[in-house]
Order: sequence, then structure tokens, then C-alpha cells
Amino acid sequence: MPEKPDRNAIEVRNVSKIFGSGDARFAALDRVSVNIRENEFFTLLGPSGCGKTTLLRLIAGFDFPTEGEILLYGDDIAPLPPFKRPVNTVFQSYALFPHMTVAENIGFGLEMLGKPKAEVEARVAQMLKLVRMEQLAGRRTSQISGGQQQRVALARALAPQPKVLLLDEPLSALDYKLRKDMQIELKTLQLETGITFIFVTHDQEEALTMSDRIAVMSAGKILQVGSPRDIYDRPAERFVADFIGESNFLPASVVSTAGNLATVRLASGAEIPASLPDGFAPKGNVSIVIRPEHAQLSRPEGAALAGTVENVVYLGTDTHFHLRLDSGEPFIVRRQNARGHTDRFAAGSQVGLLIPADSAQILKD
Ligand code: ATP
Repeated sequence: MPEKPDRNAIEVRNVSKIFGSGDARFAALDRVSVNIRENEFFTLLGPSGCGKTTLLRLIAGFDFPTEGEILLYGDDIAPLPPFKRPVNTVFQSYALFPHMTVAENIGFGLEMLGKPKAEVEARVAQMLKLVRMEQLAGRRTSQISGGQQQRVALARALAPQPKVLLLDEPLSALDYKLRKDMQIELKTLQLETGITFIFVTHDQEEALTMSDRIAVMSAGKILQVGSPRDIYDRPAERFVADFIGESNFLPASVVSTAGNLATVRLASGAEIPASLPDGFAPKGNVSIVIRPEHAQLSRPEGAALAGTVENVVYLGTDTHFHLRLDSGEPFIVRRQNARGHTDRFAAGSQVGLLIPADSAQILKD
């Protein structure tokens, strides 16, 4: 795969958005800064109400920041009304025209821009091919399925060749299976067109599947930006670790640090290595996170941690072992199932836990 260029398409600088005033004053965005690179599939991920859509609307020009600025390829876009921005949006509701055909919907924006008929037709044909809707070009959009409507909405938004495509939870109306298929299609579409995608979702799996980088948001702030692997393996804060994937949190105390690595002492007295978030140099008591698939069950003798199996949950691909550590904390271990596995660790048994190097991460809070 070719390297993605390292040029910023969008720079969000210290942007706040305040709604209301006085006692009703509310910061939907609180001094948010982030750079989104050209050609990147970038996702804003966070729970409902964290400010994702607000940030998207500011980039689109449907609303204005209270403070801060947004640059597009280095230029402040504040003076540009939405239709003059080389940015297009795909909404959750698709907002298609039901009385128009698929082809007419896709060509609508181009016609509004006054493009010549031949150019519109050629571009519509290209878009129909891109989203594999050639066969349904003449069908009204009220007579096609949800997944097909989604493709038409994408084609319509891509037709004017925007530099940046904003996607606001565009898959949430689709059923699970179709959503999974569309995730792969969207990712492929982004690679094929090379357009910068900014995708909004509250679904962590969707974000991990598609994104080059993810910004995790909470309460109007961006907490962490990184590749899916960074965010999953190296969550910097408890909120990020908790929101994405399953996590075991344990109290620990810092024994020593060297660069991005620390040695921590657990409640059992065992000492294990743990990674540090960039630029964080803690002393004293901290929390660490260990993902359930990174810990391994063992015999209790000589293990870093020991506990009792309280529950064993078989989930087909995986088995989850719910433990109660001797120090009192709950802990989940996830083991991938393979044929021929025998379950030595039944409910009620005393077990040890092995924490391989590079499995534990210190959290900032
Ligand atoms: P969701 O996933 O539910 O769409 P979101 O992360 O996209 O959530 P936003 O729509 O950006 O959240 O809203 C962020 C916060 O700002 C919410 O608490 C919302 O109620 C508030 N908010 C958004 N628009 C307005 C408005 N026009 N006036 C007042 N408050 C608003």
C-alpha cells in the first residue's frame, strides 16, 4: 500500500463551542486541537453527547466556533459558507430525494453547481460504478434497500470530488450484517478515492475496523489520538481503556521508571513491567490496565497474581474466565478457543495469572 502523504488536510486549533449563556452556558467543545492528515480515514469516537457532531458541523460550516480556528490546507475556513467549502457531508438519515432516481440523486449536487450535462452524466456513471449501483440507476430511492440508499448517499456526496468527506454515523440505521459489510466497503472506497474521510461514531468496533487514526472524545474534549492499535494497546487514560474493548484495572505503585517503561508493584507484592503514556512520569500510586486476552491462566505457584475462578463463560470463539483475585479485585481472562482445549480451570479452582512483558499499561488518571 502506498504511504499516505504527511500533509494536514484539516487543522483544528483550540476550538471551543459554547451553547447558551449564564447558568445554561454549556461547552459542547472545550479547547479542542487536532490535525487530520490528507488522505486519512480519521474517526471521532465517543459516547453520545461528547461533541462529535458539533465538531463535524463546525468543519462543514453549518455552525461557527465560539473560539479557535479551523484551517483547511493551511487556510482559515471561517469566511467560507458551507457550499463554498470543498467538504461534503453524509448524514445518518441519508437525506435522499425519494421522488428522484438513484442517478438523479447522485447528479443533483453537480447540477446545482451548474456543471454541463455531459460532465454530470459522465461523473454519475463513474459514481454508480464506484458504489456498484449501475443496475439500479433508474430506480427511485424510495424503492431501494437501506444499504443501497447508503451507497447512493455516499456516491452523491463524492460526486463533486470534495477534498474532505464528513460522515456522521452513516451506518447506524443498517442491520448488523450489512453494517459489517459496509464498513469494509467504506474503507475500500476511501482508499480508492484518496479523499480524506472524517467519520463520526460511538461504536468502538466500527472505529477500530476502518480508521487510520482515531480521536477518542469525552465531554467536549479529545482525550487521545492514535492508530487503532495505539488506542487499544496503549490507552493513556481510564476513560479510553474503558470505552474501547474490555479492561482489567488494578491498583499498583511505581517502583522505578526508565523512559517509557516502569516497574510497578501490585497488591500481591509481585513486581511487573508496565508501559507509560508519552511524557508521563508518575510517582506513588497509579492504576494499570491489562486487556483480558493479554493475561494467561497458570498454576497458582510462582505466578505474579493469584485468585479464584468464579465463572467460566464459553462464547464459541473465546472463553471468558471471571476471577476474583486474592487481593479482592475482579479480573477477566479471555482465551481463544481451539479444538482439543481441555478446561483445566473450572469455576471454583485456584489459579495463577501470568502477565507477559508489554501487557500492562499505566494510566494517567
Ligand atoms: P450523539 O452521538 O448523540 O450524536 P455527539 O457526540 O455527536 O452525540 P453533539 O451533537 O456534538 O454530541 O452534542 C454535544 C453536546 O452539545 C450535547 O450535550 C448536546 O446536547 C449539546 N448541543 C448540541 N447542539 C446544541 C445546540 N444547538 N444548543 C444547545 N446544546 C447543544
